[in-house]
Amino acid sequence: EELPENPMPWERNSQNLYLAQIVLNRPVDRVFHYLVPESMRPLLKPGHRVQVPFGRGNQLSPGYCVGVGPADEDQPSVRLKSVDTILDSRPLFSAKMLKLTRWIADRYLCSWGQVLDCVVPAGVKNQAGTRMVTVFELTDPRALQGRNIPEEIERLPAKQRAVYDALKSADQPLTMDQVMAAAGCGSGPVQTLKKKTLIRSHQKRVQHFENGDDAAYAHITKQDDLQLNRDQRMALDQILSAIRGQRSETFVLQGVTGSGKTEVYIQAIREVVSYGQQAIVLVPEISLTPQAIQRFRSRFDSVAVLHSHLSDSDRHYHWQNIAAGKVQVIVGARSAVFAPAPHLGLIIIDEEHETSFKQETAPRYHAREVARKRSELEKVPLILGSATPTLNSWLRVIEKKDTLISMPKRVNNLPMPGVNIIDVRNDVQVRRNESLGRVLFTGMQHALEAGGQVILFLNLRGYSPALWCKGCGNSVKCPHCEISLTWHRDKSLAVCHSCDFSSKPPTHCPSCGAPGLRYVGTGTQRLEEEVKAKFPNYTCKRMDSDTMRGVGSHAKVLNAFAAGEVDILLGTQMIAKGLDFPNVTLVGVIDADTMLHQPDLFASERTFQLIAQVAGRTGRGMQGGRVFVQTTSPAEPAIVKAAEHDFLGFARLELGHRKEMLAPPFSHYARVILRGPHEEHVEKFARLIAEILHDAAEERKLSVQILGPAPAPIIRLKKYFRYHFQLAAVNVEEILQLWREVDPKLPREKGIEYIIDVDPVNM
Ligand code: ADP
Ligand code: ZN
Repeated sequence: EELPENPMPWERNSQNLYLAQIVLNRPVDRVFHYLVPESMRPLLKPGHRVQVPFGRGNQLSPGYCVGVGPADEDQPSVRLKSVDTILDSRPLFSAKMLKLTRWIADRYLCSWGQVLDCVVPAGVKNQAGTRMVTVFELTDPRALQGRNIPEEIERLPAKQRAVYDALKSADQPLTMDQVMAAAGCGSGPVQTLKKKTLIRSHQKRVQHFENGDDAAYAHITKQDDLQLNRDQRMALDQILSAIRGQRSETFVLQGVTGSGKTEVYIQAIREVVSYGQQAIVLVPEISLTPQAIQRFRSRFDSVAVLHSHLSDSDRHYHWQNIAAGKVQVIVGARSAVFAPAPHLGLIIIDEEHETSFKQETAPRYHAREVARKRSELEKVPLILGSATPTLNSWLRVIEKKDTLISMPKRVNNLPMPGVNIIDVRNDVQVRRNESLGRVLFTGMQHALEAGGQVILFLNLRGYSPALWCKGCGNSVKCPHCEISLTWHRDKSLAVCHSCDFSSKPPTHCPSCGAPGLRYVGTGTQRLEEEVKAKFPNYTCKRMDSDTMRGVGSHAKVLNAFAAGEVDILLGTQMIAKGLDFPNVTLVGVIDADTMLHQPDLFASERTFQLIAQVAGRTGRGMQGGRVFVQTTSPAEPAIVKAAEHDFLGFARLELGHRKEMLAPPFSHYARVILRGPHEEHVEKFARLIAEILHDAAEERKLSVQILGPAPAPIIRLKKYFRYHFQLAAVNVEEILQLWREVDPKLPREKGIEYIIDVDPVNM
């Protein structure tokens, strides 16, 4: 490339220095300055991935360019290293995405480089699905000065002449195969011409992508949009007005299960697509929502579904297509919030209450908050849809920061299902250690006899969640974690659900040596056994992460269920989400207490959400539907309110409690977790750090409270002991400021690691 003749602004700089700001994928949040070699100046842009020498050995490390420009007058020029290579032909980040990622680093206390590196899929980094090929073209005549080229060409033997003509008439460089085909010759004449320097070759990267698994969906028949009902129409009108006004408004679309939220999303997307813009739709987990995905595919020509089974090459394919603006709708889990759509028009988060939108490794971002920020930067609306919005979003509605859209009724005037709370404390069956109480069992009989289908929900996989010793009353723990081993009868193994450790179950208690361990409690495997024994004439399928390991296994079971080949579907929270089967007339919640009794601030909220969502799976057809919730805490407000379909009542009650405690969403927490191999060390170090932070907060007059330290709920995990404490403040900025100022000065202790998690979803 030629440099322009006029001096560029940086050439006027006294030192004539042109610098790139580079960040690396390391925990320390720092920007490094590198010299940009003259030849690279017109090419290197912010957003490019580069290689730079780093560290004492000057080893080449990948990094991200976040800025380029002339050096300040006072920039010391000594000892600056130079950018080595630009790794991609085009920048991977737009200016807006650079701003967004910078914001994430600030908001979630990690480094900019970590965020950028997490945003780019591995398949893009290693350019999966592409390869280098040698291509041939005519040599630039200016490089052949002094030779009589027309005469040389005139004298070429026929085959070489054919090669020359083929390349002359081609509008781009050709591969060897292409030249040979066009000239009707072997490779010999091509090589000879190259030796004569009449033609030259160079390396070019070409795609040999699969097609991002789109072909599997080619057969889907296109469908027309539905005629909206009145509530849907009103919801859509509000959203359209924000789209047309290019407002970055956030809508909390609180619509009961079956109110037709998806149709509203689709028609809002229709609008932005008609302007040539793109929409991002975030869903909790792709494999669990095959029906919703089908609906998007049947309405739009170009839908990219970013699911977890994609190959690197498919992911790269989608990224390139999205960046080229060829994709209308991008559907994916939390990381799809970073889709490089060049003309974004709308962001939608479906089931916004799901905790899977929070990333549990650095950068520990929450996709909902990132989407909020992106909507602000791109000036596009954001829709947060749920039957049970988080209290976080709900408070913003109350404070009039976000706009509420409600859809309180199911489509076609279908009633909400009746929910019966069943107190199982005195149930004979349950006291005999069975899972189906008398009422639920009878309900199932009636539903099945009438030709309906049944969904049973139990949030514990495995056969029994504990191996219990009658002698000492202890249960057998994982040798690496402070967690009971779950008995998996099908594999005859005791398994740790935290670290996947498994072993033959011991015949004697490891604590007291007594023989005769008992399997207590019920997981989905045991429930399946009971159901099959009690309903031998009906087909039953189990859906949990043990049975759903293969690609497409979800779709297979769900299709069989839709086709009526399966009568009873039982499983973990996998079956609580999004499913829309009109023939399901009964839903049973085996044990509503499992979530409730966790030592978690959000336990009530989670229980309410779960029951409401599970209940949403029934009553979607003309036959109506019933829900039976088995519990030993029948008066628990979260359960009572969910049974009454009373989100507003629950929100009022729970927000009241949270306000009294000044807990989120009235404040922010950041959780610091420390781990190490020796318990006393970890505890001592946790106290030390908490104390330093406490003193630093006082000194700086920041209203940040330190809660703890205490042993983490699971004190031992994967061989490490864990302690944690919380930083709490009404204003999150105070927490961020405190940590940013104090963290670099915190003492380090060999073998002890710590992390910070801002706005954790589990506490
Ligand atoms: P939600 O996501 O709110 O639980 P869905 O979008 O799954 O609800 O809609 C429930 C069912 O109602 C779906 O089968 C959908 O096709 C249907 N539906 C949605 N809107 C309409 C409408 N306007 N007219 C007729 N059927 C509709
Ligand atoms: Zn373990």
